[in-house]
Amino acid sequence: MTKVKGIAASSGIAIAKAYKLDMPDLTVSRDTVEDAAAEVAVYDAKVAETREEILTIKEAALKNLSEEEAAVFDAHLSILEDPELAGQVKDKINAENLNAAAALEDVANTFIAIFSSMEDAYFKERAADVKDVSTRLKANLLGKKLPNPALIKEEVVIIAEDLTPSDTAQLDKNLVKGFATNIGGRTSHSAILARSMEIPAVVATKVITEEVNNDDMIVLDGLTGDVLINPDEAVIEEYKAKAAEFAAYKAELKTLVDAETVSTDGHKVLLVANIGSPNDLAAVKENGAEGVGLFRTEFLYMENDELPSEESQFEVYKTILEGVDGPVVVRTLDIGGDKKLPALPMAEEMNPFLGVRAIRLCFEREDVFRVQLRALLRASVYGDLHIMFPMVATVQEFRRAKAIVDSVEAELKAEGVEVAKYELGIMIEIPAAAVLSDKLAKEVDFFSIGTNDLIQYTFAADRMSATIAYLYQPFNPSIIRLVRKTIESSHAEGKWTGMCGEMAGEPMAAPLLLGLGLDEFSMSATSILAQRKRIRALSYADCKVLANKCADECFTMDEVVETIKAETGISD
Ligand code: PEP
Ligand code: MG
Repeated sequence: MTKVKGIAASSGIAIAKAYKLDMPDLTVSRDTVEDAAAEVAVYDAKVAETREEILTIKEAALKNLSEEEAAVFDAHLSILEDPELAGQVKDKINAENLNAAAALEDVANTFIAIFSSMEDAYFKERAADVKDVSTRLKANLLGKKLPNPALIKEEVVIIAEDLTPSDTAQLDKNLVKGFATNIGGRTSHSAILARSMEIPAVVATKVITEEVNNDDMIVLDGLTGDVLINPDEAVIEEYKAKAAEFAAYKAELKTLVDAETVSTDGHKVLLVANIGSPNDLAAVKENGAEGVGLFRTEFLYMENDELPSEESQFEVYKTILEGVDGPVVVRTLDIGGDKKLPALPMAEEMNPFLGVRAIRLCFEREDVFRVQLRALLRASVYGDLHIMFPMVATVQEFRRAKAIVDSVEAELKAEGVEVAKYELGIMIEIPAAAVLSDKLAKEVDFFSIGTNDLIQYTFAADRMSATIAYLYQPFNPSIIRLVRKTIESSHAEGKWTGMCGEMAGEPMAAPLLLGLGLDEFSMSATSILAQRKRIRALSYADCKVLANKCADECFTMDEVVETIKAETGISD
């Protein structure tokens, strides 16, 4: 048995065979064949096989995407069966006795070159589609398996270098029991998605793709970050027992779905969910969230090659506001950094995380920002809307963003459109904003602390880097002081503070944040019930003393962690 350790990114135990999601070598030979007619028959058979695969992918995609979005697979089918393409491949096989894979590659390359050279964006896209389809067909002709999460037919643990958010979104959680990757961090987007889909995951193992072969038996422990490769029966049994224990614990949590989040001495806080799309609303309800504390709207922009229209955004915001019983905090576009947008090409920057990101980009592209704000304000009549700007660093930036909202509101009202009451707030994720929160609190309606970025910027440590992951220190006294300062600033002005970074859902953060007076905890829906159980067992008065002790007396994160463990018995 080999053991690989990574970062535990999504809890739970997975026991299944490995499925490696890496690209096989698709180099083709120029070998000729003796029987051209037989080779043409092979080609036809492989086209049929590929057709079935694309249909399977489409079906799987329909679980996560709309009919319209899944229509790209219909385009793939017509390319596959295009008589021009098939005709040229067959002519080549017959004329040159070339093997089918090489003939296909030649013809597909010509098609791709022609489409790529066209000015029209529609045809340029077709080039990408031809490449996609021909690669799939070529893999089948070579007898190689192209990895695709949607083609998985049995229970597996996925092993990959990394998973893109769209890879992750396509996973069928009934079959994909877990995944382990070489890179990533606890707050990388695939990790966040894994938690919201309740798929156990271990990331940042550095070596998992080297250590594992397809069909190896894998035990993945998303609670500790351990991945065991080909363990013996006794170890598997031990982990089966651990998995059953975990399932029983989860069943107990389900009894708290309708309970209030209140401390033993009567201090009430709000536990709300982070969401990425209307698909997450079911999990919001199932996990007893009292609202939405962060809707990451960038997923709306990332799933298409075109910017989402005002109308399509309006429908999404309306659906969410109508579907949630409680406050809904919608974050305006936060793109840049690790999140790129096909429809909004951006100049390469030396330090994208320190560059034109989030609200900064919205100032650069006020046209795009205004479309989002129009859709949001129009949807305000359907629920308790809170609009939140990401990455605000200065008071002037907030004023500038608010002025744009005011102008969009005036524009809508002039058109006779009704706009209901809403709140306007900012994320506190840049240290400058936390330090100046006393002034910002006079102008905003609320704060929400984005610890994922606040920690990255406070420690000057890239949140995507596995090597310096040790600097992800939510419990460092420096962070606790910034959080305390932010909460105190808001309360002094009669405003409220939430937290929507991953820290809000961490077990040991429960006593700390409760004690600091945090009003709203926003996290992956699947973390809510466990956090509710912890908070209901804590005394607010005791936690206040504990939190101040951690902020004022401790020197290191380890000391804070030890103090919390010693005084509450909570550990991670
Ligand atoms: C954060 O930075 O804490 C946050 C919630 O935003 P994101 O993770 O989307 O950057
Ligand atoms: Mg952020």
